[in-house]
Amino acid sequence: MLEKAIIVGGGIAGLATARVLSDHFDSVLLLDADVMPPVADLRTGVPQGSHIHVLLPGGMEILSRLFPTLEEQLDAHGGLSAGPSEWYGLTSHGKTYRLSRFQPTPLERPAGAPSNRVQSRALLEHCIRAQVEALPNVECRYETRVTGPLLEDGAVTGVCIAPDDLELNADLVIDASGRVSQTLAWLDALGLARPREEAIHCDFAYCSATFQPRTPEAFTDVGFLISSARKGPYTKRAGSLARMENGEWLVTLAGRLGDHPPKDIEGFHAHVDTLHDPKITDLLKEAVLVRAPRQYLFPKSLRRRYDQLTAFPEGLLPIGDAVCHINPGYSQGMSLALRQVEALEQALVQRKSQKASLQKIWKDFLPAAHEQTRAPWVFAALQDFTKEGTTGDFPDEEHAITQIKRLSRRADKGDDEAAALVDGLFDMQFSLSTLDEKDTAAQT
Ligand SMILES: Cc1cc2nc3c(=O)[nH]c(=O)nc-3n(C[C@H](O)[C@H](O)[C@H](O)COP(=O)(O)OP(=O)(O)OC[C@H]3O[C@@H](n4cnc5c(N)ncnc54)[C@H](O)[C@@H]3O)c2cc1C
Repeated sequence: MLEKAIIVGGGIAGLATARVLSDHFDSVLLLDADVMPPVADLRTGVPQGSHIHVLLPGGMEILSRLFPTLEEQLDAHGGLSAGPSEWYGLTSHGKTYRLSRFQPTPLERPAGAPSNRVQSRALLEHCIRAQVEALPNVECRYETRVTGPLLEDGAVTGVCIAPDDLELNADLVIDASGRVSQTLAWLDALGLARPREEAIHCDFAYCSATFQPRTPEAFTDVGFLISSARKGPYTKRAGSLARMENGEWLVTLAGRLGDHPPKDIEGFHAHVDTLHDPKITDLLKEAVLVRAPRQYLFPKSLRRRYDQLTAFPEGLLPIGDAVCHINPGYSQGMSLALRQVEALEQALVQRKSQKASLQKIWKDFLPAAHEQTRAPWVFAALQDFTKEGTTGDFPDEEHAITQIKRLSRRADKGDDEAAALVDGLFDMQFSLSTLDEKDTAAQT
């Protein structure tokens, strides 16, 4: 066993990482700057928490493996698992259950297809956190801000924390601090090059409010998305409604490229009324506002190419949103973070089986973490760049894009094998290189 690991940040990536590291280190210390609520509730360190957080099947599969009783716990708290016909999109052309292809055709998801999990972000995190806090060799310390690295001979050997102004040593520091990650500043402090950054300027904004239905039986599915209108003045707007664990309805509005949903409740309702399908408008006639609209601005998707660096400090690995955050409209962020955690687990297991130290583990992990970003980045880019005004780095993934388009065309013609490949990729059950292997195997 290795001695001590420190994780900076107790969001989805940090919590899942703590579980993985608990198998490989004598002691794991998870630090988070936030005040952690004793019950499932919003917190300031995760401002996106008031907006819809759908967990894709690929993310849930990883969580279920790491925390075998988690799904049971979510169920017990009222979290919902969306069956094949309970979570859908309403497009200008009608209803679709296959969100992966963004096709305006009302394709059914096959019976037995894996489910999306729908619950508040706060509940999901609360249930995972309770399990991490119960691990005997993991200590979670909250209201503790990491202010900088401890550096020695070009390596990261620990962190400095506030408010105690202490120095804490570790064999490995994981930066799971999300979009406010300090890894770039730490590279600067060591005189090392920063990674190249890729960006897609989608200028996206979310605005979410919760409502108590007067007649809950008016909506008994799990949730739905209303996609952008194809024509007319409101092609940049979309919306969703989802049932939450406490019976409230979470309505999340989205708008892009300057057409952001407003925060005042009158403007919020006016935005709802301009969506091409009146389903949310109709449902809200029989519902009472519980939590006023909150806005989240997401100017760009950002991917840091740590995988391309030729020099990186020993003792440090960034993970989750710290590496890559993608337009949240496609519900991929948490699953992406979890797939990176799985990549870290594989790198550690490999070292263990070879009885090797952690020396240069970044050379294994950073490319593996990047591999997990490829599919969600391509999906988001293919969608975002259909909107006039989106700028930035279109992915250099000609082969994958051709492959996804070819498989999607076959799926639209009723080829179930092709459909399963596209759905599995979108649901984040496997990566792009695995798609390639499966596709090649299917063709031979
Ligand atoms: C509006 C919106 C909606 C989204 N919807 C979805 C969705 O439907 N499905 C989905 O899968 N994903 C969704 N996402 C993406 C998802 O929220 C992120 O991808 C995911 O939370 C990333 O996890 P993380 O652990 O890397 O970072 P975070 O969850 O952001 O956690 C970072 C943690 O680090 C802590 N921290 C930061 N700095 C320090 C410091 N210096 N010291 C100590 N602690 C620190 C913070 O307090 C926080 O707890 C959405 C994102 C947004 C913005």
